[in-house]
Amino acid sequence: MSNHLFELIQKYDIQGPRYTSYPTAPHWTQAFSQKEYQEKLQSLAGDKTLALYTHIPFCEEKCYFCACNVVITRKKEQADLYLKYLKKELSLLGPSLPSFPVTQIHWGGGTPTYLTCEQMEEYFREVEKYFSISPSAEISLELDPRVTTLEQLKTLRRLGFNRVSMGVQDFDPKVQEAIHRHQTEEQTRQAYEWCRELDFSSVNMDFVYGLPFQTRDSFEKNLKMIVALRPDRLAFYNYAHVPWHVSYQKFIPEHALPGAQLKVELFETALAIFKEAQYLPIGLDHFAKSTDELIHAFEAHTLRRNFMGYTTQKESLLLAFGVSSISDVEDIYAQNFRKLSDYYKALDENKWPIMKGHWLTADDQLRRQIIMELMCHLEVPTSLVSTLEQELLELKPMVQDGFLEITSEKIRVTELGRVFLRNICMVFDAYLSKETQATPQQYSRTI
Ligand code: SF4
Repeated sequence: MSNHLFELIQKYDIQGPRYTSYPTAPHWTQAFSQKEYQEKLQSLAGDKTLALYTHIPFCEEKCYFCACNVVITRKKEQADLYLKYLKKELSLLGPSLPSFPVTQIHWGGGTPTYLTCEQMEEYFREVEKYFSISPSAEISLELDPRVTTLEQLKTLRRLGFNRVSMGVQDFDPKVQEAIHRHQTEEQTRQAYEWCRELDFSSVNMDFVYGLPFQTRDSFEKNLKMIVALRPDRLAFYNYAHVPWHVSYQKFIPEHALPGAQLKVELFETALAIFKEAQYLPIGLDHFAKSTDELIHAFEAHTLRRNFMGYTTQKESLLLAFGVSSISDVEDIYAQNFRKLSDYYKALDENKWPIMKGHWLTADDQLRRQIIMELMCHLEVPTSLVSTLEQELLELKPMVQDGFLEITSEKIRVTELGRVFLRNICMVFDAYLSKETQATPQQYSRTI
């Protein structure tokens, strides 16, 4: 790594959001309730499409690195109870739900395959009662190769699921021990082969870099093994170490975490391997085969990003169900209760289980559009930013550092700037500067 890059890392390795939304969730308000969300849903009109997300929170064991909202249990009857409440949520929202076609469905978690075949079918059939699912819908779920059976995959395929996203993280035994996730190469390979045999049209694999004990060599070995399998897409996340926010992360040995310099080296190693294997980068942390529709969408500037990740689907309204799930409907965000007991209690009282939300102002919407353009297309029309004079001034040092090129037409992120994309987006985040000028503690490091 050059001295110049090392100095840049020292300068820019601060804490900041990942921008799956703007404003980010810490800035939403509990003053937002069922009434606001219900009025929004009932006011929708025109020619729109829907994306549906369902959160299944259960996992048998906790992976220490994971910041998802999960419930650790081996009591399978918990899932029966949860399904009962999911159905109640659907029935309470039912009269207010819009009738637009559903073009995207995603089950995340947690571990969606914690559900038995019967439970998965029961819930899917219930959803079908409330929504009209387009025959060409992308229907996907997150899959844990350690606990998923061939029977479950057959059931999912029969229900219409056509995409999977598989958690891999790292194969090195020392890393696995430190993150408390023991997953053999054989388990991953087997689940992958089943998905191929069952003709899932897209298989994504998730990795995390910046985990304890990762080295360049072990990482290189991991990635070479994975690209040889030829998954369609690769998600390559930067580990977010926030033990003050995610209690299990206190079990991660901090002394073994790679520093910013090694993290950039891991990132560079991955870039070289993916490039050689003909995977192209998309936005912040995703890669796809050069023939994948995400790449075509990136090139055609039609790529979009929502809470479920990058998608080629045209702008749709995201309705979310289950504990902690987040709906994103035009100019509002609405989040369900994060704790299972609160979620159940609201539903027992026949209330929508909304914990908090946010109405986006005109300024929020402009900044969200700028941040999403940068995250998806690595450029933004200069005209869109023209009213933000202070932010344009703040970008100047980043131009000097080689992250950006600014012309009268557009602001474009360079190859180097891709590493610092979150820092670039932070310039447009009005809530950070409103806070303290200092970096908020709740976020992970940007590099
Ligand atoms: S990484 Fe997946 S399996 Fe592990 S705790 Fe998080 S959601 Fe559960």
